[in-house]
Amino acid sequence: MNPFQYTRSLATAGAIQSLVKEPQAHFLAGGTNLIDLMKMGVVVPERLVDINPLPLKIIEKTVSGLHIGALATNSEVADHPLVLQGYPLLSLAINAGASPQLRNMATVGGNLMQRTRCNYFFDLTMPCNKRAPGSGCGALEGYNRMHALFGASDHCIAVNPSDMNVALVALDAVVHVKGPKGERAIPFGAFHRLPGDHPEKDNTLERTELITGVTLPASSSAFKGRVHYLKVRDRSSYAFALVSVAAALDMEGTTIREARLAMGGVAHKPWRLFSAEQFLKGKTAGVDTFKQAAAIAMQGAKAYQYNKFKLILAPNAIVEALQTASA
Ligand SMILES: Cc1cc2nc3c(=O)[nH]c(=O)nc-3n(C[C@H](O)[C@H](O)[C@H](O)COP(=O)(O)OP(=O)(O)OC[C@H]3O[C@@H](n4cnc5c(N)ncnc54)[C@H](O)[C@@H]3O)c2cc1C
Repeated sequence: MNPFQYTRSLATAGAIQSLVKEPQAHFLAGGTNLIDLMKMGVVVPERLVDINPLPLKIIEKTVSGLHIGALATNSEVADHPLVLQGYPLLSLAINAGASPQLRNMATVGGNLMQRTRCNYFFDLTMPCNKRAPGSGCGALEGYNRMHALFGASDHCIAVNPSDMNVALVALDAVVHVKGPKGERAIPFGAFHRLPGDHPEKDNTLERTELITGVTLPASSSAFKGRVHYLKVRDRSSYAFALVSVAAALDMEGTTIREARLAMGGVAHKPWRLFSAEQFLKGKTAGVDTFKQAAAIAMQGAKAYQYNKFKLILAPNAIVEALQTASA
């Protein structure tokens, strides 16, 4: 590992200023992703700005919904009574990720910012436009079993690996950030980006901006009764999703008033299935309806040499998640 400086930040403004002053400084939260990347030489910061002392851990009800501080750990969020009661989909998604030890360290802000698990990104001997812009994409013609079905480009076919993000996009979360120019709120669907010509940028956050928290609208708690997070992976624990589905239904009897659906493991960003949601509105819940919704969701999917199985796995996962949620 390369030598680096370490600063413990006691104030939000000071933490942001540290990144303004030093172009190679990075925020450090739980360290479960950043330290791994540093050990492998994928990220080489000159300074780590430890943000753990900042007062960004609070989880509380607000007039418009629920506020979750950026430094709340994944375990604290998943186990919090307000989350369990109002937004159980988020708890299910978080608990499907990593291991209890990791969830005790990993924070909300860090989870939003975690990098892809594409092997070519981690392997310094291989080309990767995300790690080394302009070097090429090793996965495009390589071993692309974990890779994208939607929204990829010729420069990158990596996927966002987070489970939490899939629930947050389905629940219409908003990301709150603070930077040298002030504060702003970013709708969750606009926080992560597609690779396009610049796969080195995972999201729309400026380098000097700090995530302060995430809010969930009160309206999303209408889905608390019928939710499911289905994660399909190579082992039943401690593995990233091949495909995951967050499903939430607001129902009156057997009629679907409204649906929320998103997939993980299929795109560079958590992939909201708006057309399928629209289709489900007003329909009677049942396997035939769910199969039609899944077919709509898969329109435009493009597989590569080794991930063609996802073209079957993904719609089946959507149907199963909807069936479980509606039951
Ligand atoms: C073995 C293993 C298995 C895993 N399995 C899963 C899984 O199945 N599902 C899943 O979803 N995740 C999984 N993870 C990933 C894990 O959830 C992330 O590593 C974790 O969420 C990152 O959070 P952190 O607080 O440790 O971030 P850090 O490692 O501290 O930081 C990660 C990045 O976020 C930036 N950052 C952190 N906080 C902020 C902030 N407030 N504002 C701006 N930038 C910030 C840092 O600068 C850094 O670039 C796994 C990780 C490991 C090591």
